[in-house]
Amino acid sequence: MNADIRREFPILNQTVNGHPLVYLDSAASSQKPIRVIEAVKRYYETDNANVHRGVHTLGSRATDAYEGAREKVRAFLNAREAEEIIFLRGTTTGLNLVASSYARANLQKGDEIVLTPMEHHSNLVPWQMAAKATGATLKFIPLQDDGTISLTDVEATITPRTKIVAMTYVSNVLGVVNPVRETAEIAHRNGAVMVVDGAQSTPHMKVDVQALGCDFYAFSGHKMCGPTGIGALYGRRELLERMEPVEFGGEMIDFVGLYESTFKDIPYRFEGGTPIIAGAVGLAAAIDFLTEIGMDVIDAHDRKLAAYAVDVLSGIEGITIYGPGKGQPRTGLVTFNLADVHAHDVATVVDQEGIAIRAGHHCCQPLMKLLNVNATARASFYLYNDEQDIDRLAAALRHTTNFFAGLV
Ligand code: PMP
Repeated sequence: MNADIRREFPILNQTVNGHPLVYLDSAASSQKPIRVIEAVKRYYETDNANVHRGVHTLGSRATDAYEGAREKVRAFLNAREAEEIIFLRGTTTGLNLVASSYARANLQKGDEIVLTPMEHHSNLVPWQMAAKATGATLKFIPLQDDGTISLTDVEATITPRTKIVAMTYVSNVLGVVNPVRETAEIAHRNGAVMVVDGAQSTPHMKVDVQALGCDFYAFSGHKMCGPTGIGALYGRRELLERMEPVEFGGEMIDFVGLYESTFKDIPYRFEGGTPIIAGAVGLAAAIDFLTEIGMDVIDAHDRKLAAYAVDVLSGIEGITIYGPGKGQPRTGLVTFNLADVHAHDVATVVDQEGIAIRAGHHCCQPLMKLLNVNATARASFYLYNDEQDIDRLAAALRHTTNFFAGLV
């Protein structure tokens, strides 16, 4: 599918350091197709105004575009109602809202929050803060050697004292797809709510929040062909309705007096201030783009590329690949280290050949500690990548190994 799809991404059509660009950093942020760029441009050129309060025509066009985008997200996640979708800056903001509002109001000393050690800092630090504020404790479902989690461990970790289980659907380091649906069932059986970090799953696979049985689900638009600065939090109506806002000001109020105020219904009570209107317009265009191609097609493509990358890269001398081994399910990315070469040096050297990969702790310092490394290199794939990109990476990694071995 890729020659046609690639053409839709103007940024990919360039050389970097004298080589055609190979972009393998979509897990950090994806590129944008022309129609998303155009949708944002068109919005600013023809419809731009503030939403909700205006009675003029542009105000109602902007409102229609913004609320239309909310409906698009609802359908994309198969939420029951558009009111269950809150527009926010991204996954980090969504998870922080749940931790600051829901968790602080519902946790007390002795309660447990269950996480995994593979969580991104944005699905870890907010819970640490909520635990500190309420006296709750954090518990972790252990990782197996290949980076997966077992349902036996999930069963053993979640107890009737557990009030919140927060888990990433896809790990941004290991590429594993976690058993979120089964975990949600176990969480519910114990009276806990299930919070899902959807940053790495939403770009790659069909997500159905009702089928998953999750209570909250957060994702970022910029990782799925949308603009930066926009994402959404899905929350079940019954839970959102009982939650206090965490930001106060314009847009989110109902009546304001000098000493007391009342707030709007969901979702507006959580969207204080002028919302991210152009971002929502761009996200809606990205959802249309992905939906037209088909999330099932994208899912199969990204899994195939990840498997191909594990295959090809495991032939490189001195490489360590983290996470599920050959033939095990993984999506979207491969994380690795070359013997005796720091991950940052690997990324710097392959950049000289026009290949963009990421190096560092990937906002997963506890996981790095478990893997016994300070940093790793990560190549991540999306719908505009193909096998040739991975072959180019493999060749560049061989040059890197040779270079550091002093052979070149
Ligand atoms: N969770 C995971 C698994 C991620 O990969 C990321 C982004 N690297 C985030 C959360 C945070 O997303 P954002 O920075 O867009 O809020």
